[in-house]
Amino acid sequence: MWLLVTTRCNMRCKYCFIEKTDEDLSQKKAEEVIKAFIFSRGKEKQLLICGGEPILYFKLLKKIIPLTRFWAKKQDKSVIISLATNGTLIKKKHLDFLKKYKVKLAISIDGKRGSHNKFRVFKDGEGSFSQLSRNLPLIFKNFKKENICALMAIHPLEVKKMYDNFVYLTKLGFKSVNIEPIQTITWGEREREEFSRQLDRIFDYIIKEIENKRFLFLNCVSRIIARQEAFNKLIGVHPSGKIGDSCFCFYPNISFDINIIRLRNRASRKLVRILLKKAQQKDSPFFNYLEEIESYVFD
Ligand code: SF4
Repeated sequence: MWLLVTTRCNMRCKYCFIEKTDEDLSQKKAEEVIKAFIFSRGKEKQLLICGGEPILYFKLLKKIIPLTRFWAKKQDKSVIISLATNGTLIKKKHLDFLKKYKVKLAISIDGKRGSHNKFRVFKDGEGSFSQLSRNLPLIFKNFKKENICALMAIHPLEVKKMYDNFVYLTKLGFKSVNIEPIQTITWGEREREEFSRQLDRIFDYIIKEIENKRFLFLNCVSRIIARQEAFNKLIGVHPSGKIGDSCFCFYPNISFDINIIRLRNRASRKLVRILLKKAQQKDSPFFNYLEEIESYVFD
């Protein structure tokens, strides 16, 4: 379940589709939907808390995250809770709380300073890279690597730098990256081809790193391997209280290019096949890699 807790945000990323209507999800509604979600069928649940910027509504997080854990325990269910944040407002007190409740962090960072600052800007138009990178050491210090993921948005204008940006993020300390091509833009044929080429370079890099026993994870791949794509029902909850089958359904006037996601997912399956084949030998590093993959699943 994707829980959009607020439409407020301190940033104004140029590709963002969230209308900044300053709406907050009420505590009553949040509790109601989370309870229904936990009590619904299925033993394994994933809750993604996002916004806007959810840290701006920390007051609600302090109520609903402990409750989610409480209900899950009562129902004997497992819940992966992740929080999508731009990372610019995060402080030690937030990290202490999130760590206590085993919340995973998905941090929006598009790569090197230039690529990131091109689109990920504050209200005054200034790039957010410096502020985010000031907070990263604190995040890395307080969270295990398997509980942090880089949310790397790919704009067609920056697609040629995708491989370089990916490698940069892994050198920065991220072991897990979620490659998210931007869907609010229609990708042209050449950009799609470039996206595929860059993905192939990333796959080769990941394979080489595994051979050297350095494990890097791609969300789209980890999800297929660990979950067998088992989660077939997605619920989105908007701060207004509307419920739908994704986050995108709340914005019917915006067209989303789903084909670029399909392309990414098709390509991911190619890497999945290679990894599964290479992991057939028990003494292979690929075998150990697959054993670790479960703890790197994010949504
Ligand atoms: S940080 Fe997220 S919610 Fe805020 S403007 Fe950027 S993409 Fe939109």
